[in-house]
Amino acid sequence: MAVALRDLRINGDRLWASLMELAQIGATAKGGVKRLALSDLDKQGRDLVVSWGKQAGMTVTVDKIGNVFMRRAGRNAALPPVMSGSHIDTQPTGGKFDGNYGVLAALEVVRTLNDHQIQTEAPIEVAFWTNEEGSRFVPVMMGSGVFCGAFTLEHAYAAKDIDGKTVADELARIGYLGTEEPGQHPIGAYFEAHIEQGPVLEDADKVIGVVPGVLGLSWYDCVVTGMEAHAGPTPMGLRKDALQVATHIMQEVVNIGNRYPPYGRGTVGMVQVFPNSRNVIPGEVKFSIDLRNVSTDLLDTMHNEILAYVDSRSRSSGLKISIERVSYFPPCPFHPECVDAVRKATANLGYSTMEVVSGAGHDAIYAARLAPAGMIFVPCKDGISHNEIEDAKAEHLSAGCNVLLHAMLERAQPVV
Ligand SMILES: [Zn+2]
Repeated sequence: MAVALRDLRINGDRLWASLMELAQIGATAKGGVKRLALSDLDKQGRDLVVSWGKQAGMTVTVDKIGNVFMRRAGRNAALPPVMSGSHIDTQPTGGKFDGNYGVLAALEVVRTLNDHQIQTEAPIEVAFWTNEEGSRFVPVMMGSGVFCGAFTLEHAYAAKDIDGKTVADELARIGYLGTEEPGQHPIGAYFEAHIEQGPVLEDADKVIGVVPGVLGLSWYDCVVTGMEAHAGPTPMGLRKDALQVATHIMQEVVNIGNRYPPYGRGTVGMVQVFPNSRNVIPGEVKFSIDLRNVSTDLLDTMHNEILAYVDSRSRSSGLKISIERVSYFPPCPFHPECVDAVRKATANLGYSTMEVVSGAGHDAIYAARLAPAGMIFVPCKDGISHNEIEDAKAEHLSAGCNVLLHAMLERAQPVV
């Protein structure tokens, strides 16, 4: 072996060049990418990544939801593969790095192992999952969700875009309706490198985010019902002002987020006021509530607090208030051994680092239901993602890929 394992580094220029080449497919005028799931452009992107995988000597398997697994053989074919990947579909105004980085970083790991003719005990696989973004078809994280059994293949197949086209038809049309049963593909360990999509690493001037887990979330629809009346003739004491009561609840959502730091989040992002007229006391207010935290206990506590607050406000105001939970994702702690592998690789490589929880959903959450999983974050400019101006530094992308390489090698065991 020409290079000692601890000195092994990926080729950052090649990683960057591949990212830029893939970003040409669906490139937008503002420098972003629009490559919606199962579109013609998605097919072109998939075909390009698969061709790179084949050039790197990997064998390709596609499952029934269009997830693609590219395999580099290990010495022991009986061992489950150490897998890494992400997604290559984007938002309508997406960037070059979200998802794509995770897939091409994994590919770069394989290319690097090939360059240095390093064999591993366990096979290594590069995966990309169908429709992570959920922009064209709902639900989000569709491919990995079907894979882990979060919902059924039939449910995913029936999802329609705004033109009425189904996932099943579009998969077949672009040639990615595979034959393998989703979830039948063994995984020994799963790693996903991703841009942070938040401002924490950049703000702290750190290169690598070690991700202990992903925030759980609880979403609610809240409706306060009062009574419309004229803003002039109705004295303050005789009103049933739905907005006035709603604003107290909205403030409490923020208070609850603040009460459980450092990972508590409380957001009201959507408000509808009826009849929304300047001189009418609002008769009804509908708004969304989004609560997040890192542990199930804390999220449950926040849940109970908002319900209790709504109840007490309803009694004190005499107004009817309904609150309904419409979505729930439990917090996802990553596997201690995978988190440690990332932490150790980062330390050995000498990069500055901190722990960062993920506030966004990733395929790794669903992979974590079937196998030990972990994530690696690198900074993105101003923390901005899901935007055409999404940007990241080549040196940070290289650093994250080096961490991925060494974390995967620890799990896959180089043959020496
Ligand atoms: Zn992503």
